[in-house]
Amino acid sequence: MELIKLRGRTYYISSATNVGVYRYRNGLCTLIDTGLDNTTGRKITQVLENNNLKVKYIVNTHAHPDHFGANNFIKEKYPGALIVASCKERIFMENSILEGIVFYGASPMHGLSTRILKAHDTAVDINVTEGVIELENKKFEIIPLEGHSIGQIGVTTEDNVIFCGDAFFSEDKMEKYPFPFLFDVGAHLNTLKFLLDTNYECYMISHCDVSLENPKSLIQKNIDNVHQNLEIVLDFLAQPLTREDLTELIIKKYDIPMNISQYFITISSVGAFLTYLLEKQSINMDIIDGKMYFYA
Ligand SMILES: [Zn+2]
Repeated sequence: MELIKLRGRTYYISSATNVGVYRYRNGLCTLIDTGLDNTTGRKITQVLENNNLKVKYIVNTHAHPDHFGANNFIKEKYPGALIVASCKERIFMENSILEGIVFYGASPMHGLSTRILKAHDTAVDINVTEGVIELENKKFEIIPLEGHSIGQIGVTTEDNVIFCGDAFFSEDKMEKYPFPFLFDVGAHLNTLKFLLDTNYECYMISHCDVSLENPKSLIQKNIDNVHQNLEIVLDFLAQPLTREDLTELIIKKYDIPMNISQYFITISSVGAFLTYLLEKQSINMDIIDGKMYFYA
């Protein structure tokens, strides 16, 4: 891991989840996201130490554990650091069991409590929603990028670099995960269309080795991917199916490797597609003999 310059005072640490770094002249820095766990936290702090940097702020794009799981480790190392997140994501970061509850709908069954789905609770110090905030006398613009999660935010630095979290994915990731994890399909499409109309100098997404200067074709591919999946779901629903039936067909179609977490991630995203199609009145729903069926 190393500190890689993007533009001006904006850098990133390339990692499984990229960590944005904004360097101030006084040796302090603001991080954007931290990574999955203490092991990642240790590596990040090593890179920061090698560059004589101390953390003053951590801005989290969203409350998925691979984005804030190393917060506590970093905060212990730099006790004065303040954590910034959106109001909607804050609830999940401060009550991390909610992640499992959302997937399961009740007290999460064993297997949903793995570290991927449940990070440690992390207190948030500053709420943000939208607009400009000043951190250590530098302006950061907070851009709502909802859809992948309930209240995801993008963070723009004064160098015109935007950190987009998981608002869109690289071609590699789309190939590996062709059925994306989404919380709200409509909000996700709106976010992608919004990003298509922006002109930042540099775009950083969380799971990609490189920064992007012109991501428009990639954003369009992400939009196309959602539309393809909507078509696939609609085709399957030519016959009435339960949400579990539909999940089974999606898992088999894409040969998604299975474990308990992956099952709930998939059925959860299937739910997002169903909600979207119901809202568009492209499908109907009926409860018959104790089963809920969806059909086109
Ligand atoms: Zn995510």
